[in-house]
Amino acid sequence: MNRALTYLLAACLLWSCGDEDADTQAQPQDAARADSDQDGGLALDSATDAAPAGAGFIIETLIDQRQVPISGASANVNFEAPDDVVSLTVIVHGDPDGWFGIESWTDGDGTQLAAPGWSEAAGNDRGCMTCRNFTGLLQNGVSTTVAPNRDTGAVHPGTHRLALSGWVDGFAADSVTVTVIAKRGPAAPETGVIDLNFYFTGAQGWTSDSVQGDPYFAACVQRVNELYGRAGITIGDMTYQDLDPTLSTVSIAEGEETLGALMANSIASQTDGLNIFFVDQILTGEPDFPAIPGVAASVPNPPYLPGTVASGVAIGTRGPLEVPPGQRFLDPPAIGQTMAHELGHALGLFHTSEYDEVSHDHYDDTPENDNRYLMHADGTGAIISDEQGRALRANPAIRHPE
Ligand SMILES: [Zn+2]
Repeated sequence: MNRALTYLLAACLLWSCGDEDADTQAQPQDAARADSDQDGGLALDSATDAAPAGAGFIIETLIDQRQVPISGASANVNFEAPDDVVSLTVIVHGDPDGWFGIESWTDGDGTQLAAPGWSEAAGNDRGCMTCRNFTGLLQNGVSTTVAPNRDTGAVHPGTHRLALSGWVDGFAADSVTVTVIAKRGPAAPETGVIDLNFYFTGAQGWTSDSVQGDPYFAACVQRVNELYGRAGITIGDMTYQDLDPTLSTVSIAEGEETLGALMANSIASQTDGLNIFFVDQILTGEPDFPAIPGVAASVPNPPYLPGTVASGVAIGTRGPLEVPPGQRFLDPPAIGQTMAHELGHALGLFHTSEYDEVSHDHYDDTPENDNRYLMHADGTGAIISDEQGRALRANPAIRHPE
């Protein structure tokens, strides 16, 4: 049931998304939050990796896939944020069938980015709306949180304290694996570049070779560039990779694991950018909307961590590419629009509004039920708000060349 909720939040449901069942949000995390220990953190890490990101920006891995034991239902981790920290990304993962998340996060200035017990507070049944930094519900396999992901969530230097949770088969996991990435720089970036790794399953005849001379594919890339250009973000390097055709149909129906199996192929990614998989169909198992145009395996995707069940987005090609090339709608091209929407999820944006017209995101500057916005559930809009743009550019997958 948890898996279904994750996909409902992540999926670009062009047909219907209004049947979200509140019962799907029942999570074992409530038990975990009752007994979290804020002061049990482990020794501080030193930096393990630093790579130039350009324009004075540096991506630094503060904690690199460290296994942390769970004690008293949570794993406690401390780390030191550098003086010029611009954003911090926490990735919690483990067993692909497990569920992982953040119970609490104390900023370097001592304030709470995510306060203990947040999941029990009113209004937080879809994630921590009341937290200074939006914090998601438990995620299947991999949980990623970028801060700031809203204007109230600015991060500060100093000692950060995390309480993390992990569950496998309904029981607290023995341990979780945690990675913490810092983006360092002079100020919050106003521009950036995103690299894209494209994967092809042979669906609808698209291959790594054919797309590079295909005007429709070029129009799709142009659509992404046009929309993200409004937020100061442009596409950088693009790589192309063919996969086994047996991967060309995926299902997000309950109990299906084909989407995660597809994402695991992202281990072949050739840049540190985002991974986009083109398939024939993304099936749902739902009679009312049997297939959807796109899905993000996680929100956001775990940056710099390819090969997990959460490491990418999938785009269905059957509908748009069944139209003869000369008759395809190029402005905007359907697949390009879906790519842009799913990339928004991959970089950390949730739907501004769901089809139920009740569920909305945590931003103050995204109007409710306005499908002119790219991240409205129907995925047909173009607008990226200022707050959304700042959250996108905080993601460490966005680099900042000189
Ligand atoms: Zn969506």
